[in-house]
Amino acid sequence: MPKAFPTSFNMVLFAIISFLVFSISIETSSSSSSLCSWTTSFPCPWTTSLPPELLTLDIANRFHTDKTAIESASIDFGKLVRLNPAAVLNPSSVQDIVNLVEFSYNSPIPFSIAAKGRGHSVRGQAMAKNGVVVEMEALKHHNNEIGIRVLGNPKLGFYADVGGGHLWIDILLATLGHGLAPVSWTDYLFLSIGGTLSNAGISGQSFRFGPQISNVYEMDIITGKGELVTCSKRVNSDLFYAVLGGLGQFGIITRARIALQKAPNRVKWIRMLYEDFSSFTRDQEHLISIDGPDYVEGSLIMNQSPPNNWRSSFFSPSDQSRISSLLTKHTIIYCLEVVKYYDYVDNLTNINTTDEGVEALLKGLSFLPGFFFKKEESFVGFLNRVRSGELELQAKGKWDVPHPWLNLFVPTSRIMDFNAGVFVDILSKQSNNTGPILVYPLNRNKWDERTSAVIPAEEEEETFYTIGVLGSSEEVDMKILENQNKEILEFCEKAGIGAKQYFPHYTTKKDWMNHFGSRWGTFLQRKAQYDPRMILSPGQRIFTSI
Ligand code: FAD
Repeated sequence: MPKAFPTSFNMVLFAIISFLVFSISIETSSSSSSLCSWTTSFPCPWTTSLPPELLTLDIANRFHTDKTAIESASIDFGKLVRLNPAAVLNPSSVQDIVNLVEFSYNSPIPFSIAAKGRGHSVRGQAMAKNGVVVEMEALKHHNNEIGIRVLGNPKLGFYADVGGGHLWIDILLATLGHGLAPVSWTDYLFLSIGGTLSNAGISGQSFRFGPQISNVYEMDIITGKGELVTCSKRVNSDLFYAVLGGLGQFGIITRARIALQKAPNRVKWIRMLYEDFSSFTRDQEHLISIDGPDYVEGSLIMNQSPPNNWRSSFFSPSDQSRISSLLTKHTIIYCLEVVKYYDYVDNLTNINTTDEGVEALLKGLSFLPGFFFKKEESFVGFLNRVRSGELELQAKGKWDVPHPWLNLFVPTSRIMDFNAGVFVDILSKQSNNTGPILVYPLNRNKWDERTSAVIPAEEEEETFYTIGVLGSSEEVDMKILENQNKEILEFCEKAGIGAKQYFPHYTTKKDWMNHFGSRWGTFLQRKAQYDPRMILSPGQRIFTSI
């Protein structure tokens, strides 16, 4: 259990330790390569900063230092950063990770440790230069470890206890067998529980249920001191909230208890087109304020961002040609996407799921007449819609390319300015393919401000927007996309938009302080309490420069 030192004492201790760690690591960085030669009793597989004594632990044979292991932990989905760890640990139990973290915490010179889910970060966030990357998915292959257990009690209803290295697709498939499913999703399901809970985990269901971090009842965490702690809203609640959206800074999630609800079998899936941004956002905001839709998102269609892309192939060839002719009249078309679940396993929850019922939900919306598209899909097919696009790109060798993605949260009061400055002025004037561009609102009251996740500061606004500019350098030079991101961020800064980065990436302390705003003090204090030697997730570059 973390001990509760007075905050001021903690902060002073933290500052002293930070200084010492920094000084010692500078001093030893040139001599660290000789660490292994201190002893001849162990054949030492690493040539960098890890102490050879690590090999005395009984996890020694779960370390991998071969080229393949190091290579795969030194790169991520973004392909923009490359940092080699000294070793990769494929844990066979939670205790293996406890032993590793405890060892580092008690070492004279601690080494860094990054839990890695799927490595679907885009800026090296799950990397640990010269440290140890823990492949969380390895735990899945050990029977004695937490698998996926579907349980329930009268107080919480149904829930799943899931290992931190499992993927959301794993939970979906396991829970559907019980007629259940999690309530809050990401657009893509091959992401890890620990990875999305360290950020927020958002998709079209978040307006209604909140992000994935709002739908967790309990977690087991290994803190930066190597303590294994169970936490929830009631027990060790500060650690619970710190870890949710905590960018991996306070502990490694080894188990999460995820809320479930009854799963439908099928969905009605609708897209509507707009040429006017203000009608589009008005309708989106209306839809997230009513009780009815199960999913609301939106995206841009431009010559540079075609209607069908790897995120989903929704439109038929004839729809696509109608949309192309619309694009000769408008440079940007806004596409509103709504889904209604139906055909529940129990057959009791099927209220308003006829076509007429769904269309009634959309009454009064101002989409372009005739540009209303509807299809039906299985629940699994809908939730897993990005997978087929991924497999297609993989087959063409176009998935493993650089992805300089930019994700932002924008205050609703400034979304019109954002449209004018970014969508119209910057993105639609590019002649290059910009990839999918997402824009949809979220309800602020579904986010818990005690978590570490950062959203726009405008507390009086009930909603804010999420924006995703998801380009890949499959067709466009990476530098063009990087410059475009820079231009967008500079515009937001200059216009005082008050946007916050989702999956934040900064290189200076000032920028991090600015990102957290008034919550920076709490973030620091939590770091001092749960990871005082700054061991965990160094790839976020908040407390370390690498
Ligand atoms: P990693 O990249 O491996 O890790 C991310 C961070 O979490 C790192 O700092 C890591 O050290 C830390 N971490 C990982 N596991 C743990 C753990 N068990 N305990 C503590 N810390 C841990 N996000 C959305 O919110 N919505 C979307 O719709 C969405 N769609 C996406 C679609 C695609 C195709 C891709 C590639 C990503 C998408 N994402 C989306 C982004 C995704 O949420 C992030 O990449 C996130 O980091 C999860 O990826 P991961 O599981 O691979 O985590």
